[in-house]
Amino acid sequence: MSNLPKIAWIGLGIMGSPMSENLIKAGYSVTGFTLEQDKLDRLAAAGGTAAGSIAEAVADADVVITMVPASPQVEAIAYGEAGILAHARRGALLIDMSSITPQTSVDLAKNAADRGIRVLDAPVSGGEAGAIEAVLSIMVGGEQADFDEARPVLEALGRTIVLCGPHGAGQTVKAANQLIVAVNIQACAEAVVFLEKSGVDLAAALDVLNGGLAGSTVLTRKKDNFLNRDFKPGFRIDLHHKDMGIVTDAARNVGAALPVGAVVAQLVASLRAQGDGGLDHSALLRSVERLSGDQV
Ligand code: NAD
Repeated sequence: MSNLPKIAWIGLGIMGSPMSENLIKAGYSVTGFTLEQDKLDRLAAAGGTAAGSIAEAVADADVVITMVPASPQVEAIAYGEAGILAHARRGALLIDMSSITPQTSVDLAKNAADRGIRVLDAPVSGGEAGAIEAVLSIMVGGEQADFDEARPVLEALGRTIVLCGPHGAGQTVKAANQLIVAVNIQACAEAVVFLEKSGVDLAAALDVLNGGLAGSTVLTRKKDNFLNRDFKPGFRIDLHHKDMGIVTDAARNVGAALPVGAVVAQLVASLRAQGDGGLDHSALLRSVERLSGDQV
């Protein structure tokens, strides 16, 4: 029998599937629940246990990890008669790794504490590739003791793991992350259209750019998406739209101006309104192409 904590994993999507599989590879026993049967089958094939409900998944768990799209889904899986708080055992640690509003994380921690359940907000950056390779950056909000307890589990998922402050602080840092990533993708997309219209070899240009001050993880990870016009997600525009809403709202609450972020938030919203919400966020290129008069 393993001495490692038993894990329940709720939300086996683009991120949750490879992340939970990394825990299995690290020796953890993982029981999962998600809405799609094929993802449950994938977990079972990887050596985990597929549960039929949230209640069944969390009943025996020491640590419950959640990775669902946004605040409404976190609230749906946490609260109510069928939710995590009603069925996890007292003393369990709930690590929510979804990207949600800081206030939702603060409220969840308070409501969970009333039931003897401890919570960390631990959103991630690094994308699907970072999840598969277990090299995510994990930004955590909550109590130091809970962070110390969670660290070995998080180390099986990521490489840079930092306690940023109290409940919600991880989400605030993640919101800043999404601001930086969106603006960076937009700048890359504008450069791609400019380079192509100028008749420069795009692959060569992006290679040399990435070796200088203009280089970035965004360019490294998204270069082939730009070159091949491959916008299979990855990270969906729908989710980045959600995140731009979180960061612009949170910034307004604290009186921080985000002039460039606000413009990029509008470009993300426009892309989504044109039916591209299911594409990878590198599809911001399509919006620059449309603005530049190209047939997309
Ligand atoms: P996804 O849509 O691929 O997966 C979400 C999963 O949540 C689905 O499998 C769905 O079944 C499950 N789910 C939703 N409601 C549920 C419910 N009521 N009960 C059980 N399961 C439920 O999303 P994703 O890309 O994996 O993103 C998950 C979170 O991680 C989001 O908050 C996103 O912003 C964040 N994130 C994503 C990436 C990325 O590159 N995809 C990177 C960093 C952070």
